[in-house]
Amino acid sequence: MMTVEKNKTYTVTIDDLSYEGLGVAHIEGYPLFIENALPDEEMTVKAVKVGKKFGYGKVIERFNDNPERQAVKDMDLLRSGIAPLSHLTYDYQLRFKQQQVEKVLKTIAKLPEVQVAPTLGMDQPFGYRNKAQIPVQKVDNQLMTGFYRKNSHVLLPIENYLIQDPKIDQAILVIRDILRRFNVKAYNERDNTGFIRHIIVRRGHYSHEMMVILVTRTERFFKGMEIAEIIKKELPEVVSVIQNINPEKTNVIMGREEKVLYGKTAINDTLLGKTYRISPQSFYQVNTEQTEVLYQKAIELAELTKDDIVVDAYCGIGTIGLSLAEKVKHVYGVEVIAQAIEDAKYNAKANGIENANYEVGKAEKIMPRWAREGIDPSVIFVDPPRKGLDEKFIEASVAANPEKIVYISCNPATLARDLRRYEDLGYHASTVQPVDLFPQTSHIESIVLLTK
Ligand code: SAH
Repeated sequence: MMTVEKNKTYTVTIDDLSYEGLGVAHIEGYPLFIENALPDEEMTVKAVKVGKKFGYGKVIERFNDNPERQAVKDMDLLRSGIAPLSHLTYDYQLRFKQQQVEKVLKTIAKLPEVQVAPTLGMDQPFGYRNKAQIPVQKVDNQLMTGFYRKNSHVLLPIENYLIQDPKIDQAILVIRDILRRFNVKAYNERDNTGFIRHIIVRRGHYSHEMMVILVTRTERFFKGMEIAEIIKKELPEVVSVIQNINPEKTNVIMGREEKVLYGKTAINDTLLGKTYRISPQSFYQVNTEQTEVLYQKAIELAELTKDDIVVDAYCGIGTIGLSLAEKVKHVYGVEVIAQAIEDAKYNAKANGIENANYEVGKAEKIMPRWAREGIDPSVIFVDPPRKGLDEKFIEASVAANPEKIVYISCNPATLARDLRRYEDLGYHASTVQPVDLFPQTSHIESIVLLTK
């Protein structure tokens, strides 16, 4: 095999697109991953990183365009990983996601017979995110907001994030300018000094209520209240300004401690006609419009009746279970974040729902306990984080003997792994339905109904 050398240039043709949206070229079998490169495109590339099994290349000159290529407004959107598929037409993105699911069903799940439906996409696949978490750094002697270059902590100053609610983009600039005016110091990761680490903004898609969270390294916030008042004055939609304190040297964005600088401790929004309280630490799907499509589809697949006992595992603030509670006898929700369970309980009450119970804890611990207590679910909804289901949870869910399991997944690889386990334990997957919750990015959400 020819050895690929760092800093040397090669002429290649792209033959694949990785699940992260990087073009792949093989130089005598050695894979080189290349940003902003699409299948069938010929180009000269420079090898910038060369590992044992694969390397990374940088485009020097591209000789032709894939017909599905579209112009990228700002290359930093690719460089930062904010919108790694934005150089592809949206139709192609949707097909690409369907194919990615098909691939893992064959390779990981070994279930080639399971069909994958066309991805349900958005009419307007931009400006959809209801939440932004923006790092703050000192750049050119100024407090700067933007996004990290991929695999680094170099801040690329960005003002238009393409996929965020434009009102959120605008809010970030307003807040940045206020912080500059007050000479607030940006955090410095290298020596864990300075003050403002992140600006987090959430905006209710329907309510238009805005929450601003200023993540700081230390507690003492000189003129913090005054700054919060000015944020409110310049951004009238703001109903809550929270200071979150994170003293650790860590990549985890939020710390445990919180203080209200202005207004309420949470915002409200609506989903499928129900209102929800959303606290700073609670998970809430970032694409409200598509979440409604996702939940509707999941509920439709379950064909619920008034006799159904439903488990909503990994329930967050209760959105899935509360959307279907009126159709069934009872809902049991479980979730590991205490603040989210407080929200779920509050949300049940606020919507007049009395047949839902919630518990804080790990789903894999609570599920077996519920079984011992005689809770006998007929339908189990699961919506785990990227790492998928814990083996103990899978066993407990099968032991509970439900008629149906509805699996909502944000990671095809762990979905495929878990579908294999369920198949071996007697639960068979029907069609997988991808729903595009994250246009322009490589994230893939899908739903699948499992029956005995
Ligand atoms: N169903 C909700 C939340 C889905 S996100 C919605 O649609 O909004 C996944 C949720 O699982 C998060 O709220 C996360 O806090 C929670 N979680 C992560 N690990 C968990 C575990 N082991 N047990 C229970 N919940 C968990």
